[in-house]
Amino acid sequence: MTAPAHPKRLLLLASKLGYQTRSFADAARRLGVEVLFGTDRCRRLDDPWGDAALPLRFEDPEDAAKAIVRKAGETPIDAVLALGDHPTLTAAHAAARLGLAGNTVEAAENCRTKLRQRQVLRAAGLPVPYFFSFSLDEPPGEVLARARFPCVVKPLVLAASQGVIRADDVAGFEAALRRIRALVESPPLQAGHRADLDRLLVESYIPGGEVAVEGLLTAGCLRVLAIFDKPDLLEGPFFEETIYVTPSRLPLETQSAIRDCAERSVAALGLTEGPLHAEFRVHEGRAWPLELQPRPIGGLCARALRFGADRIGLEELLVRHALGLPGAEGEREPEASGVMMIPVPRSGIFEGVEGREEALDVTAITEIEITARPHDPVLAWPEGSSYLGFIFARAADPAGVERALREAHARLRSVFSSELPVEHPAARRVR
Ligand code: ADP
Repeated sequence: MTAPAHPKRLLLLASKLGYQTRSFADAARRLGVEVLFGTDRCRRLDDPWGDAALPLRFEDPEDAAKAIVRKAGETPIDAVLALGDHPTLTAAHAAARLGLAGNTVEAAENCRTKLRQRQVLRAAGLPVPYFFSFSLDEPPGEVLARARFPCVVKPLVLAASQGVIRADDVAGFEAALRRIRALVESPPLQAGHRADLDRLLVESYIPGGEVAVEGLLTAGCLRVLAIFDKPDLLEGPFFEETIYVTPSRLPLETQSAIRDCAERSVAALGLTEGPLHAEFRVHEGRAWPLELQPRPIGGLCARALRFGADRIGLEELLVRHALGLPGAEGEREPEASGVMMIPVPRSGIFEGVEGREEALDVTAITEIEITARPHDPVLAWPEGSSYLGFIFARAADPAGVERALREAHARLRSVFSSELPVEHPAARRVR
């Protein structure tokens, strides 16, 4: 075996270079891997954050991939990992051009909008609710005529349940439309110049519980790393997440139905390589795909997963897999584990979270990270998309993890200094 001519280099693609990116970069550096960042957070070509990030426009993935290939001409790139939905198409284009393992462009395209994904899954015979899509420019009367209640209305291209609203009747539907319109027309979202931001999807509401599946694909073969139960029912009208606990407490046949549904969905979408994060509704033992994305779980939630005898984190496992390094094979640890995304009780100026020490005293709580920054405006769902932070727990069984997370959360108090001083357009309550 010949030694590599250079240390392995990993390109991390992310819209925000925040705590999640840092968590992956730290894992890579611990392995002696060099990290390059590619981001669309700034369109200018200078380096205002001093991290030499490659400025890319994920809205133009082919052009972004060309810029990555130019960069690889100077500093070889051995793997590309997309964090978040937005850069996944750029990652696919870049992998194709660089001859690296990755999903095909078509597979990434199949996941780019919620509409395309629904169409592909339906064509493959997967259980998919009644759905249709429309533009905010269309006459509301015509749109309403097509709706069946209860339904869920959502923008085609946002993530983290931002702008996802359940409507049970005509009045609820009209209110949801006004609220989503205000959100997508708000300056922060307009600044992203995202294609299809003015298009919405309407789907019949799928009743039941919900799980998240974290997976890893190698040459089209899906390895399920974890099935997370979501013990708080997500029934709307908004869908802010809270607790994730693994292993799942669902009957084994239901878990096997979820795996089967995940495999069939992955095959239908054509996903073949790297991380997979997927959500399923489970109703009467049957799994319904909600959404699959070729990227890892968001926020700091990856920290809830550890693997193998050395208890390596999901971040390290994914970096090893992306670079073909050994050590990505270990099973998830035997303990139950979970994370609570700390909910945002209201929109306002966030000042901090009190009671962290008392919450850390709860048995089984391993870590509490407050990720919202003091004095920053934060938005509650459905306008919001970022949690106040994350609580982690490990225990002998999932019930112990869930109990600990609830107890720790009950000891935390989030502090807001005021409502937003100047009303943020996205926070406008339209009735
Ligand atoms: P995002 O990618 O923004 O998270 P999703 O389409 O996954 O958007 O929807 C977010 C959440 O909204 C889901 O996790 C689920 O709880 C709820 N949801 C979305 N669509 C439906 C549906 N058709 N029926 C029931 N719940 C839904």
